[in-house]
Amino acid sequence: MISAKNQEVTSMKPWSLLPLACLLFLLTGLCLGQNPKAGVSLYRLEGGTSWMNDLGRFCDVFSYHQKPGTLTVSAFLIKHNDDYLIWDTGLPAATKGSKLDRTQATSREMTKTLTDQLQEINVAADQINYVAVSHYHTDHIGQASSFPQAKLLVGDKDWSVLQQADTKGREFVEHWLSGKGEVQTVSGDLDIFGDGSVLMFATPGHTPGHHSLLIKLPETGTVLLTGDLVHMQESFDNDRVPAFNTSRAETLASLDRFKRLAKHWKALVIIQHEPENMTKLPLFPEAAR
Ligand SMILES: [Zn+2]
Repeated sequence: MISAKNQEVTSMKPWSLLPLACLLFLLTGLCLGQNPKAGVSLYRLEGGTSWMNDLGRFCDVFSYHQKPGTLTVSAFLIKHNDDYLIWDTGLPAATKGSKLDRTQATSREMTKTLTDQLQEINVAADQINYVAVSHYHTDHIGQASSFPQAKLLVGDKDWSVLQQADTKGREFVEHWLSGKGEVQTVSGDLDIFGDGSVLMFATPGHTPGHHSLLIKLPETGTVLLTGDLVHMQESFDNDRVPAFNTSRAETLASLDRFKRLAKHWKALVIIQHEPENMTKLPLFPEAAR
């Protein structure tokens, strides 16, 4: 049986279907534009290198007592369609030119700043729309001030710590603390672009407002960036908690959440300070897509 509605359609002149065709074309285009995997790529940037002759404070049950180690400092650039986001900003730019000196208790090295690296792929500093940070430590906010026009995304409880006059590294985010820059404080999780492709998710414990980042790439699949949830692969595998974390209980709960997310999404996990994890992503200026 043909309904009255269908009859009406069959009696339509071909040109009268034109508006409907246009609408379908428009909706198809919009739907394609909303594909969370469309136009997302991930670059690993150098944020410096740190040397310590004693990693002891990175485990509160003394697993690394008097063990020396080298940690990479990572930053990442995410291109989402026409927007750019930087995740963590590395050591301060003034570190550039320093060399590791393993005769010292600690030392730092950096060959290129973030803006040096962006220039190599023809991205200007003022094209960065967002600077999102895992937490307030100086090896993560060190070069934030290179991107004053960007909106700063930071955990709300970490932002509260940065308000305190005695917090180390405040100068790197002074632009936003003084009210000149736009800040979005993040409570819980934040779907940054609203399409599920880049999620800043709460992993408190290292600091009260610590976050990690989930990125869905069209070819690579899901990538998880730890922030400083852990610093080394051994720490990740054995649930080590640094002695200087703000909450042992929150760290362990966050590790549990992170590992469940990684399993659920079959994710590529990048431990940002672990030198051996850096080969999991293409070497800059190549990007993971
Ligand atoms: Zn760190």
